[in-house]
Amino acid sequence: MSPEFNQPGRRMSGPVIPAEATGVIVVDLAQLGANWRALRDLVAPAECAAVVKADAYGLGAGEVIPALWRAGCRTFFIATIGEARQARALAPEATLYVLDGLLPATAAQLAQVSARPVLSSLPEVREWAEFARQEARRLPCGLHIDSGLNRLGLVTADVAALAEDADLMAHLDTRLVMSHLASADDPDDPKNREQLAAFSAARARLPAAAAALSASDGLMLGSDFHFDLVRPGYALYGGQPSKGRTMPVAPVVTVRARVLQVREVPPGETIGYSATYRTETRRLVATIAAGYADGFARSSSASNAHPGGAVGYKGRLAPVLGRVSMDLITVDVTDCQDLGMARGDWVDLIGPGITLEDAGHRADTIGYEVLTRLGRRFHRIYTGSGG
Ligand SMILES: *Cc1c(COP(=O)(O)O)cnc(C)c1O
Repeated sequence: MSPEFNQPGRRMSGPVIPAEATGVIVVDLAQLGANWRALRDLVAPAECAAVVKADAYGLGAGEVIPALWRAGCRTFFIATIGEARQARALAPEATLYVLDGLLPATAAQLAQVSARPVLSSLPEVREWAEFARQEARRLPCGLHIDSGLNRLGLVTADVAALAEDADLMAHLDTRLVMSHLASADDPDDPKNREQLAAFSAARARLPAAAAALSASDGLMLGSDFHFDLVRPGYALYGGQPSKGRTMPVAPVVTVRARVLQVREVPPGETIGYSATYRTETRRLVATIAAGYADGFARSSSASNAHPGGAVGYKGRLAPVLGRVSMDLITVDVTDCQDLGMARGDWVDLIGPGITLEDAGHRADTIGYEVLTRLGRRFHRIYTGSGG
């Protein structure tokens, strides 16, 4: 079911796009569910969880979490207590892990929604154990081992201290021991095996619990990296994080915006703020109703010296000319003249010919950032159900 473009307000087989919509974000929940099942099959017998932090990478946790639940996912990772609360309301039976761990004096809030903190330091471990002691029950949690990212997680000395503190460990109900890879997007990076070894060594010193090491890219490194559970996020949403290894997923998100006008610009004119682009020959320029407020990164701006972003029109690419502004971009459609572009048409910001990775690369960033910055102003459409 694909929404009918260029037919504003008219119901075809798909959902209605209001005539007033300047942009549309279409999230294909059926493909999201198919992506989760493809990864589940790839890593079986390990469990495939889903990372749905940051409002499901900007796609809308309210739709994404129920769709993944219907697809069969039972374990979800979020970053914050607020996200855990929302996830709990959407998936009452799910297992929830909070990646930011335990903020001071928030144990009761986590326990209230039966969310498990992923504890990343000795003070967090002690605070969770103390809360459990006061409550006179063992409370489930995860432990985060730092195997070389040097960001969050228990370092080797912390693991040793825990291993020797039977009293502290007795108050913990450790259900997951996890770590996170630094360079898994590059399958040839020796750091992957180094972290695997460090994680395995740390895990051996801790009580038996499910183990997890890999996010989207890591699960492509082979079954040594799967352990008991994998934690993909980006790949579920159709991203391709791994260099040289194609993940068995397909795009979930399409972003389109309207053509406001098409005009001829003679040679020697400048286009946009600060006049960073000057036409050398006559150009046909389309002004599109999308800007950095909609998530079209300002770093996609183009000058004569530096190319920037691009949009797609009927399978052809139209490069950005000049600065990206808050609500508008200007693109070169000189090579699309035969396609008859008109006011009110739609161009692809993310879609056929422009992947998340392409858009990220053209903005000097990564597809992850493109996804999580999609603006709130575009009309959102969810198709399929995921199940
Ligand atoms: C965000 C995150 C993930 C998911 O990563 P993707 O690359 O999106 O699959 C997994 N684990 C941790 C610790 C994370 O922070």
